[in-house]
Amino acid sequence: MRRSPIELVHGELHVTGSGLFLDARRRRACAFVSHAHSDHLGRHDRTIATAATAALARHRLGERGPGEVLPAAYREPFGLGELTLELFPAGHVLGSAQLRATNGAGVALGYSGDLCLEPTGTAEPAEVMGCDVLLLESTFGMPRYVFPPKEEVLEDVRGFVDDALSDGVTPVLLGYALGKAQEILRHLGARGYACRAHPAVHAVNRVYEELGVALPNVRLLGPEGPARDEVVVAPPHLARSAAVHRIRRRRTAVLTGWAVDGARHYRGVDAAFPLSDHADFPSLVRYAKATGAERVLTLHGHAEPLARALRREGLRADPLEATAQLELL
Ligand SMILES: [Zn+2]
Repeated sequence: MRRSPIELVHGELHVTGSGLFLDARRRRACAFVSHAHSDHLGRHDRTIATAATAALARHRLGERGPGEVLPAAYREPFGLGELTLELFPAGHVLGSAQLRATNGAGVALGYSGDLCLEPTGTAEPAEVMGCDVLLLESTFGMPRYVFPPKEEVLEDVRGFVDDALSDGVTPVLLGYALGKAQEILRHLGARGYACRAHPAVHAVNRVYEELGVALPNVRLLGPEGPARDEVVVAPPHLARSAAVHRIRRRRTAVLTGWAVDGARHYRGVDAAFPLSDHADFPSLVRYAKATGAERVLTLHGHAEPLARALRREGLRADPLEATAQLELL
């Protein structure tokens, strides 16, 4: 049996026969960091990442956090030992990248990282990465996760905002501080809405702006609170923070793909909209087929149901956990 080009070492992704880890959390001598969300980030001796991911990682971990950075541009192959590496946009957050690692035997391993196939307006649009073995994220890898077209979701969010403003209450939109917040702020700001960003969001906004993503009509939310016609954007985990609580008359909505499961999961939230920075189930299936991969290994979230669905489509697919353990031991 041919050795798998990917293995798990202490639960972390390791490119077989190389010194390269993928999105490792523990400190490693050399790791590819697909994007700057904290569940993909670690302090390493050497980090391979796009310049935008490196800037966002420094913001999150401090100046020395990512260690020595080998900045990599999209679609510019380079060598690392026996491997040839090439990055492709993943469309998830600014700087997010997929990685193709081709080994000495010519087998191309593709790692999707977190992937979003619909444009966000703030991240580089995703591209299809051709490969032999695809390591595919499966956050929304269940058939019930089908998102409406993004334009429709954004129109619904604008309706929520307009209704709140005309009722004289402040609309508070809850979205993750890196990525989701900038997407909705850019969308609303560009349409003339006056927006206020929670300090945690504002700090990331500044990095986005330094990297060339304009966020017009957005100001920091200070202790004075929002004016009558302003929209507030804050991270979901800070929905009960003083900065939000201080806004007496408010109506809150959470922006997340999990809204497909209904708003009832979110205590104290008035509405939920399925604005996602991940691919939905049909997009994941379409993507896996488009890469031309002969083998697909699914990971994160709903790995088993996604692999099952891909097998029904005629692909050789399994959850990574099952195969990597078998092939490693
Ligand atoms: Zn992410």
